[in-house]
Amino acid sequence: MPDSLASQVAAGEVVERPAAVVRELVENSLDAGASAIEVAVQRGGSSLIRITDNGSGMDREDALLCIERHATSKIRTKEDLASISTFGFRGEALPSIASVSRFRMLTREKDAISGTEIEIHGGRLAAVRDGGGPHGTMIEARSLFFNVPARRKFLRSENTEYAHVEQQFRLHAIANPHVAFTLIKDDEPVFHLPATHDIRDRIRGLVGPDLAGQLLEVGPVERHGIEISGYIGGPSFSRSNKSLQVTFLNGRPVESQTLHYALREGYHNALMKGQYPVTFLFVRMDPHDFDINVHPAKKEVRFHNSQPVREAVSLAVHDTLHHSRVLPIGHATPSRQPTPLLPSDSEAPLPLPEVPRVETPLVTPVSTKALNNPQHDDSPPPPLAPISKIPSTATSKDEKVPETFRILGVLNNLYVLMEGKDGLVLMDQHAAHERVLFEKMRRAMESEGVPSQRLLMPVMLQLSPRDHDLLVNNLGQLSKLGIEAEPFGANTLKIDTLPAFLKTDDPHRLLGQLVDEISALNSRSSSLRLGEDMIATTVCRHAVKANDHLRVPELESLVADLMACEMPYCCPHGRPTLIQISYLELERKFGRRAP
Ligand code: ADP
Ligand code: MG
Repeated sequence: MPDSLASQVAAGEVVERPAAVVRELVENSLDAGASAIEVAVQRGGSSLIRITDNGSGMDREDALLCIERHATSKIRTKEDLASISTFGFRGEALPSIASVSRFRMLTREKDAISGTEIEIHGGRLAAVRDGGGPHGTMIEARSLFFNVPARRKFLRSENTEYAHVEQQFRLHAIANPHVAFTLIKDDEPVFHLPATHDIRDRIRGLVGPDLAGQLLEVGPVERHGIEISGYIGGPSFSRSNKSLQVTFLNGRPVESQTLHYALREGYHNALMKGQYPVTFLFVRMDPHDFDINVHPAKKEVRFHNSQPVREAVSLAVHDTLHHSRVLPIGHATPSRQPTPLLPSDSEAPLPLPEVPRVETPLVTPVSTKALNNPQHDDSPPPPLAPISKIPSTATSKDEKVPETFRILGVLNNLYVLMEGKDGLVLMDQHAAHERVLFEKMRRAMESEGVPSQRLLMPVMLQLSPRDHDLLVNNLGQLSKLGIEAEPFGANTLKIDTLPAFLKTDDPHRLLGQLVDEISALNSRSSSLRLGEDMIATTVCRHAVKANDHLRVPELESLVADLMACEMPYCCPHGRPTLIQISYLELERKFGRRAP
């Protein structure tokens, strides 16, 4: 097989699309110690991808060598292979890219008198000459896949390819805040990110101050020798795709089912179904404990032992969410907000993604008139209604002064309208009540365990050997959940009690679900988690119905109870309980302020 063909085959694996070329070239620049990297693309990268760095550069010999397959300067021994700390190590990227594009490289070492320019067209060396230019390396790949029509056909629209490039750029930029990054799209600058040692500056530069201001800081915490740090979005601040759920392993952006599950587990009942959290999470651990080399595209990581990783990540996220309280600002569907392409100019000083903390709220009655709800003239609220004074944790700088919510009325028997310091606050009374009940039940479960209810007739449960063993090994956990069970021979379990609050007429189905849950969960806190899920499903039935009419004093105590919750801003199923529409937003909507 001729070498150029081998390269084209390999190219299909390494560079499946422009974003992959960007990934490989930027990784090389980082490996070369660059402190500034510019990424330029035209037409989504299909017509041009150009990466310029100020790294070490190469001398002529290395420059010629690096375009041959398996020429890598990064691995020399087997030991190197075991603990790869650089990004590239296969020596495949450059030859692959050069074999499927019009490739040009200009490189010069810092003190070299002249540099080298190499041109390769579809894998054929077209020119080698002296080249000038600043020190560092510039690599251009034009007309990607021009000589492999079958592959070129697979490129998606310019916009789609560009979106992937931008996502790749974002990952590199966040992973390397100490490196200045520039992204240029069709000759227009999109991002210009100066080097910084504060990751928050970098995130803000990439996602804009609005989103950055709402992130919560994670750790750094260490568990099982795994360090977790970074920033995550609060409850209800999720996206409908994974673009802002990013995870880094030892500084490298990775995708991993383990990490994905761990995040879901950490968010647990704080995340709406079908939604992805916003995370910039950094995991650091011994490089011997995972493989990154599963696929040439190097996206997926495989942990040798995923359990501790999953636990460390999910607990770090869980703890962060529970210690922080951030009111979802502004939009009923934050997930539909587009990520700002460019950091917007903000009038106010940038809000820092600090975690506002709140002590137990006080309820101080003040007198103001509540609005009459025209639909409920039959049960008029008192003309002078006491007003709850409830500290809110909207991301304001002066956390000391608690915000007051003034109840204005109820919309459609469901949405409680309240006036807050920063604007209008809407509360979903059903979701709020669910949250309150949920936490009450969970507290009871934590302190006394779940009250159990003896069945009139014990239920005999026939199980598969696997499920039987799983449950028998978790009898202790089951009993904490109010389920007393004992083995009854031949893969049979005798169930004597069920949780009292759970009205189920089908214990088989319940136990079946529990088996699934237990096998999906990990060791610690699983009984609590299991219990939480059971509670969450029952809470709904007890909670105030959407159209139950609540009187003002009832509403006030609901608001107060909600604000006393550990996580007041979403219901146990992850839907928001409170939504704020800020004055700023109202002003924009009414055209009093430029959008
Ligand atoms: P790998 O990164 O796996 O070593 P590549 O094909 O990506 O393989 O690169 C081959 C070699 O070319 C690298 O090992 C490195 O020595 C050199 N190289 C590539 N890009 C650069 C760059 N931007 N600056 C300096 N050297 C580079
Ligand atoms: Mg490389």
